[in-house]
Order: sequence, then C-alpha cells, then structure tokens
Amino acid sequence: MAQKFDVVIIGAGPAGYVAAIKAAQLGLKTACIDKWLDAAGKPALGGTCLNVGCIPSKALLDSSHKFEETQKGLKAHGISIGEVAIDVPAMIKRKELIIKKLTTGIKGLFKANGVTSFAGTGRVVAPKQVEFVDHEGTTEIIEAENVIIATGSAPIDIPPTPINGDTIVDNVGALAFQSVPEKVGVIGAGVIGLELGSVWSRLGSEVTILEALDGFLPMVDQQVAKDALKVFRKQKLDIRMGTRVTGSDVQGDQVAVNYTDSEGDHEMTFDKLIVAVGRKPYTDNLFDESLGLKCDERGFIEVDEQCRTTVPGIWAIGDVVRGPMLAHKGSEEGVMVAELIADKIAQVNYDLIPSVIYTHPEIAWVGKTEEQLKEEGVEYNAGTFPFAAIGRAQAANDTAGMVKILAHKETDRVLGIHVFGPSAGDLAQQGVIAMEFGASAEDLAMTVFAHPTLSEAVHEAALAVNGMAIHIPNK
Ligand code: FAD
Ligand code: NAD
Repeated sequence: MAQKFDVVIIGAGPAGYVAAIKAAQLGLKTACIDKWLDAAGKPALGGTCLNVGCIPSKALLDSSHKFEETQKGLKAHGISIGEVAIDVPAMIKRKELIIKKLTTGIKGLFKANGVTSFAGTGRVVAPKQVEFVDHEGTTEIIEAENVIIATGSAPIDIPPTPINGDTIVDNVGALAFQSVPEKVGVIGAGVIGLELGSVWSRLGSEVTILEALDGFLPMVDQQVAKDALKVFRKQKLDIRMGTRVTGSDVQGDQVAVNYTDSEGDHEMTFDKLIVAVGRKPYTDNLFDESLGLKCDERGFIEVDEQCRTTVPGIWAIGDVVRGPMLAHKGSEEGVMVAELIADKIAQVNYDLIPSVIYTHPEIAWVGKTEEQLKEEGVEYNAGTFPFAAIGRAQAANDTAGMVKILAHKETDRVLGIHVFGPSAGDLAQQGVIAMEFGASAEDLAMTVFAHPTLSEAVHEAALAVNGMAIHIPNK
C-alpha cells in the first residue's frame, strides 16, 4: 500500500529542506525525497548549496583570503613572518568536514521536526502521486495532497569546452583541486567565475577569465561594477571581456583554449579550465508531458507569484523556477508554500532579495540600480560614501569601495543600496531591513550607528543622499 503524506517534497536543497521543516512545523505530515550522494556514495541532504555551492565555495574563499592576508596583508600592520605555505589537501579536507557537519545537521533537523526522509529519486507520475526509487532500485508510490518540486539546477555546458572532470571542470571540480594549478582559465566572469577565480588566484594561480559580454556584471549598478573591475584587475585577475570561446583541445594534463575577440583569434593553454557560464533548471526525468506541467522556453517550471504550477496541488520552488538562483530566494519560497498549504496567508517580497558576490572586497546589493531607475523614468537622489573615509576601514587597512544609496526624489524612500567593500553582504542587509520597513534615506540618516564600524558608511551614504554627509565634502 502507498505511504500517504500531506506534503511530499522532491529535492532537499535550501528550497526543499526548508519547505519540509516549515511544513512539518505547521503540523503537516511531510516527506522529502533527495537523491544526492556524496563522494563516499552516502546520501547527503542540502543540495547544491551545502554540497558543491554556497558553503564549500565560501570555505575556500575564507581559507584563500586568510592565506593571502598572511602573505601580503600583515606587513602594513607591522607583522612579519617567515615563508607562508598552503596545504591544499588540508584546505579541501576542512571544506569537506564543514559540508559533512552541515548536511548531517539537516538530517538531524528532519528528525527533530518529524520529516520523513527518503534517499533516492522522485518522479511525479500523477498530481498526487510520486514514484520513489531508492538507491538499490526498489520502487514505491508515495501519495500526498501536495507535491513540492525543488529539484534545483545544474551547470550549463558549452560545446567548445565539454566538462571532463579533470582538466575541464564545472563548480564541482573547481572546488576540489588537490594542488594549486599554475594556470587557470575561467569561462564566464559571473558570480562563480569571480568567486572561484579569486580562490585560486589568491593561492598563486595565474587566472584568466574569458567573458562573452562587453560589459562587466550587467546586473550590478555600473558605478560599482566599474570600481570592482578595476580592483579585481589590480588583484591580478586577468578579466578579458568580449571574448568568444570557439574550441578546446585537451593535451595531456593541459587544455588549449581557442577564443576570438575584437583583435582576432587567440589560443591560451591552462592546467585547469573552469566553465562557469550559468546554470539551468534541473527537471530530468521528473514528470511526463501528459501531466500538464508547463515549463518556459528555458526549461523553468512555470509558476505564479506564489509558486503554484499549472497543475493544482503541485508547487515548484527554488532554482527550478524563475527568479534569481539564490539559496535564500528558494528558502523563502519554501516557507511561503508550506504556509499556503497550511491555509495561511504568505508571500515573498521578490523586490527585496539581496545578492552578494563573495570576492574581496564583496559586492552586495538590493533593490534598483541607477540604470534601472533611469530606464523606468524614476527620479532619484544618489548618495555615495567611500570606505577610504571610514575610520574602521582605515584601521583594518581595508579601504577599497563605497556604499551607494538611491532614494526617490520626491518621497526620499530608499529604492536601492549598493555596496562594494569589506563585509558588503552584511552592510547591504541593513539596507534590506530598512527597505522592508519602507524607510526613507532620512530615516537611515537619523538612525544611530556605532562608531567605529564599517556600517558608518551606510549612515554617511544615507546622509549624502540629501547632501548632508559629515565626513566628506557634499557635492
Ligand atoms: P539545489 O540546491 O540544487 O537542490 C536540489 C536537490 O534536488 C539536490 O539535492 C538534488 O539531488 C535533488 N534532486 C533533483 N532531482 C531529483 C529527483 N528527481 N529526485 C530526488 N532528488 C532530486 N546561492 C546563494 O544564495 N549564495 C551563495 O553564496 C551561493 N554560492 C554558490 C556557489 C556555487 C559554486 C554554486 C554552484 C551555487 C551557489 N549558489 C549560491 C546558488 C545556490 O546553491 C542555489 O541557488 C541553491 O542551491 C538552489 O537551491 P534549490 O533547493 O532550488 O536546489
Ligand atoms: P552567472 O550567470 O553569474 O555568470 C555567467 C557568466 O558567463 C555571465 O557573465 C555570462 O555572460 C558568461 N557567459 C555565458 N556564456 C558564455 C560563453 N560562451 N563564453 C564566455 N562567457 C559566457 O552564472 P554562474 O557564475 O555560472 O553562476 C550560476 C548561478 O549560481 C548564478 O545565477 C548565481 O545566482 C548562482 N551563484 C550565486 C552565488 C552567490 O550568491 N554568491 C555564487 C555562485 C553562484
């Protein structure tokens, strides 16, 4: 006989596992199916985020930042030490241990909240029926009033550079090199390209990033993007814009990459090539067309603002649906859908989903860029404040970048906050909270900020919106 649940979720990434915990907390009988196996062949919850995404990349970003700081950043503080070395296998092992702790943590949370966990593959065979096949091949039918699809995304691959898992890798391979490659090529100057390019560059690789577009980080406020490009190039990331990769040739331990740009045809040889040209929704073998579940032309499952698919009782959340491919966006959708299933009122504020690129300095933003406001014909005031004028940034010897706040010209309501600088992610989050409560630039300006903190740059940028900054001359 089929096992019956109120809710069954397919996928235990940050969208699915959060939906499962929330649904169980709301008293719904909940099951979550996930097929992820770790390198040892053991089931691991947490999806891309915990296993090969957010967390492992930040572990390596933190390790490589410490290495670089120790090597280059201590002299200014009067500290001198001997030769600095990096033990890459130890660094990778630390990353693996963090993953293990966190994925095991989800397992514990499922247990504590009464979520039934199924390790294996789910397939929606009818609106209220999911076929489950475990890792030994045993099949059973699970029935549920509501099915939530949270199957995530997979890296896009491009024909000129097929992934071989050794010389040509995606995010999975790039998080697991066992030594520092001499020359690293990266295709795509997006979020992964910049983060993982930074990791290996800090550890000593010569990193070249080949980007197809002429403009750098088009989704970022362009004043910030221009500043960031300058700083990244100073950090020796060789970012080449307007390139088209045409082919590659694996020659032993190396790969030759051909590309064209406005100056003609080029060939470069790398020890490792990281392909980071975006991700696509993952729905392989998930349902039959006869189910009536519609996908858009790019393969995203079509949903409304509240993540209802075209089939009643089937919901979809996270990377597999429209919107930014961010862990916190999927988690919020998971909470919303669980609440809606439990007959509560719920929504996600899609206008206020923060983005962070974890380079050093970080880039973080929420709300509208100047380019978007111009395009929408919204009149605004802009206030900027450089970290170079912040005492705490000087004390830390970390002064690159700025905070920029955009506010409506008439109402003064904050419309966007853009930060390039130390701890930008945490600083922009202050803007998210302010914007969630409909704050004006004046509200932020009237708020007391502790001294000396980096967040004083947020305060000063808010003051600057109305020409009232204290620690820089106002324009
Ligand atoms: P996923 O995390 O992809 O999880 C989907 C799960 O579904 C997987 O466990 C998969 O095994 C399972 N699954 C799929 N199909 C089936 C099936 N048929 N049956 C059973 N199980 C199935 N986002 C951020 O917000 N911050 C970051 O710093 C960040 N860094 C990143 C770094 C890298 C290198 C990468 C690749 C991504 C990063 N992201 C980051 C993006 C983030 O990882 C994703 O947005 C997030 O994981 C999406 O969550 P999800 O639950 O929708 O899908
Ligand atoms: P991305 O969309 O951020 O960047 C891909 C880049 O590759 C773009 O600049 C694009 O123009 C370029 N590109 C595409 N095709 C190309 C080609 N043929 N040749 C050269 N360049 C090409 O994608 P990503 O970096 O792969 O990351 C995937 C997703 O994962 C992103 O949507 C992001 O939201 C998420 N992610 C988030 C974080 C974070 O939040 N810090 C970190 C990593 C990944």
